Amino acid sequence: MTARIAMKTPLVEIDGDEMTRVLWGLIKEKLILPWVDLKTEYYDLGLKNRDDTDDEVTVKSAEAILRLGVGVKCATITSNAARKVEYGLKKLHPSPNATIRAILDGTVFRKPITVSCVKPSISTWKAPIVIGRHAYGDMYKNSEMLIPGPGKVELVYTAEDGTEKRILTVANMKGPGVVQGIHNLDASIRSFAQACFHYALREKIPVWFAAKDTISKTYDGRFKEIFTQVYEAEFRDQYEKAGLSYFYTLIDDVAARVVKGEGGFLWACKNYDGDVMSDMIASAAGSLAMMTSVLLSPSGAVEYEAAHGTVQQHYYRQQKGEKTSTNPVALIFAWTGALAKRGELDGIQDLIAFARKLEDATIQTIEEGNMTGDLARLACPKPAKTLDSWEFTEAIAKKLEKSLS
Ligand code: NAP
Ligand code: MG
Repeated sequence: MTARIAMKTPLVEIDGDEMTRVLWGLIKEKLILPWVDLKTEYYDLGLKNRDDTDDEVTVKSAEAILRLGVGVKCATITSNAARKVEYGLKKLHPSPNATIRAILDGTVFRKPITVSCVKPSISTWKAPIVIGRHAYGDMYKNSEMLIPGPGKVELVYTAEDGTEKRILTVANMKGPGVVQGIHNLDASIRSFAQACFHYALREKIPVWFAAKDTISKTYDGRFKEIFTQVYEAEFRDQYEKAGLSYFYTLIDDVAARVVKGEGGFLWACKNYDGDVMSDMIASAAGSLAMMTSVLLSPSGAVEYEAAHGTVQQHYYRQQKGEKTSTNPVALIFAWTGALAKRGELDGIQDLIAFARKLEDATIQTIEEGNMTGDLARLACPKPAKTLDSWEFTEAIAKKLEKSLS
C-alpha cells in the first residue's frame, strides 16, 4: 500500500450522538483512515459531554472553527424534557447548531446529492437546486402581541441619542386580534448577499434571489436594493467572466419557475422562505439522507455537516443488535467537503483528489444498485437487495480501493 496522504492544518472534528455517531466511527475507520493520515482537533459534542462541560465544549468547538477555518460536524441531539430523563442531564442546553451558528454568524447552504437511479419528483430537474437561507432576523426574532380589543397599534423608532423619533400607524384595530414586529439589519443582509455570491461563484452556478418588494416596498425593497448593490459593486465583473448571472424576481414567480425549470442554481432565500423551501427541495430531490449542509461564516470559516438528525429510532434498534440500513452518504459528503476545503487552503492536491474519489466511489456504488433502504424505496430500477450500513460502507470501500490503487 502507498503512503497515506499527509495533512498540514488539523480539521475541527465535532462528534455527535446516536446513530450518526455510530456511522461517524465507521466512515473514519473504513473510508478515511486507510488513506489519509488524519489530523483533527476533536470535540465531543455527545449530549453527555455537553452536559458534563456545561455546554462549554460547544462554544470551544465553534471557536476552533473560527481559528482553524474548517470543521466537520456529526448530528447532535437538541435536548428536551424526554432527553433530560434519558441522559440524566443537569439541565437543558440550547441547540448546538444554534450556538455554533451564532458564533460563526453564518449563512447555511443546503445542497442535494443526486444519483441517476433516484429521480426527483419534479421531472424537469436536471441539476440540484441549492438553498441559501438567511439565518438572521425577520419572524425568527420578532415581538408579537395579542390585542385585546379596539385601539391603535403604532410603530415607534427612537434614535439612540434621542434626536429623532418616527411614528407610523400599523392599524386602527376595530376589535381583538394580533400584531407582530420584525426587523433586519443592513449589515446582516449584506453579509448574507456576499455569502451567496461567493458560494455560487465557487460552485459555478447562477444566483436567484426573490422577495416580495411589490407589496413590501420598504422592507423587502431593502433586501432587493442591497443584493443589487453587492452584486454591482463586488461581483458583476467576476460573474460575467465566469459566464454566470444574478437574477432577481418575485417570490411567487420563482416558485412557479422552480417547478417548471431545470434546476442548477443557488436560490437565495429570506429566513422564512428558506425554512419552508429547503424542506420542499429536500423532499422533492429524494431522501433527507442525501442532503448536505454547509455553514459559511463571513470570516471565511466553513462548517460541513449532514442536514439530517441523529436518526434516533434506528439507533435504538441498533442498540438491540440490529444491523440497521441507515444511509451514511450525507455524513460521507460532510467529510469529503471538509477534507477538500482543507486541501484547498493548505495546497494539498492529493487530499482534494482523494475527497473527489471518495464522492465518486459513493455515487457509483449506489448507481450500480448497492444502497440502503431509504434509497431502495425510491430507486428505479429497484435493487435486488437492500444493504445495511456496514455492507454499504464496505461496498464503497472496495470501490474506493480500486480507484485509488
Ligand atoms: P432525523 O434524525 O433526521 O430522522 C428522521 C427520520 O428521517 C428517521 O427516522 C428516518 O426515517 C429518516 N432519516 C434521517 N436520516 C436518515 C439516514 N441517514 N438514513 C436513513 N433514514 C434517515 O430527525 P429526528 O428523528 O426528528 O431527530 C432525531 C434527533 O436529531 C433529535 O434529537 C434532534 O434534536 C436531532 N437533530 C439534529 C440535527 C443536527 O444536528 N443537525 C438536525 C435535526 C435533528 P425512518 O425512520 O422512516 O427510516
Ligand atoms: Mg424547515
